[in-house]
Amino acid sequence: MKRTDLPINCDLHGKVAVVTGAGGVICSELSEGLAAAGAQVALLDLSLAKAEACAAKIVADGGIAKAYSANVLERRSLEECRVQILADFGKCDILINGAGGNHPRATTEEFAGDGAGTPFFELGKEDAEFVFGLNFMGTLLPSQVFTRDMAGREGCSVINISSMNSFRPLTKVPAYSAAKAAVSNFTQWLAVHLSKSGIRVNAIAPGFLSTAQNKELLWNKDGTPTLRTGKILAATPMGRFGLPQELVAPVLFLADPKASGFITGIVLPIDGGFSAYSGV
Ligand code: NAD
Repeated sequence: MKRTDLPINCDLHGKVAVVTGAGGVICSELSEGLAAAGAQVALLDLSLAKAEACAAKIVADGGIAKAYSANVLERRSLEECRVQILADFGKCDILINGAGGNHPRATTEEFAGDGAGTPFFELGKEDAEFVFGLNFMGTLLPSQVFTRDMAGREGCSVINISSMNSFRPLTKVPAYSAAKAAVSNFTQWLAVHLSKSGIRVNAIAPGFLSTAQNKELLWNKDGTPTLRTGKILAATPMGRFGLPQELVAPVLFLADPKASGFITGIVLPIDGGFSAYSGV
């Protein structure tokens, strides 16, 4: 992404952004947007190869980025990464907590006894813990590690990635829903906690996105919508999926203190009206 492709006029020159899960579908797009807006971007991912692919794209477009291998569930891994980032870029102004997601093993039947999946009663403790931990502890730990250096400096902020299921749980994903509710709650908690240190903390809550990764869940081979797609589109007043690039402008807006300097503790839905719609 080039500066001229940016959907919003925002200047982050002089800022250093740390993005976790930066090799993923959403955060690689956000990282490209941050770099196009002038930020130097530290790309953290469990998969160094995925982070490197994103870094190469940013550098090819004239931006500044470096990939790091990091596990958001291990404090030591994050601390080691922080030392490297401070050596490479000197500071961290913006933290995007993007690592997260569900796991098929933490998915249940929709209604008890419908036979379409794992019964809730048999949901594995380790599987539920894994998904809850990845999304919640995977947000809390990087926040601990990277906000320490932000205190007392101008224009620093954290942006978490929550989800529609934080407002009302989506069916079949109890641990993922509970974890995203915890992420939204923690966003408010941390915003208050860090308010006197000059650090703003906000979150985005993306609605349903259509990406290369979930294509097979959403579309049949003949291009017709799957049952799941029909349900999603019926529950989304705008009648379409979102695109990862539609998250870029809201994140740049929340990251730029000149645009959102008095905004902290919000969870911004980007959902085509899903969270506003009761269906009747
Ligand atoms: P993704 O799977 O494409 O990306 C997640 C990235 O996180 C991957 O590159 C993965 O390697 C990395 N990761 C996983 N575990 C990690 C760990 N322990 N430490 C460091 N990195 C790790 O997922 P995505 O769809 O881009 O989702 C990004 C975020 O957005 C997640 O928090 C997800 O819950 C949230 N979200 C996604 C959607 C959607 O429709 N895709 C909707 C709402 C919210």
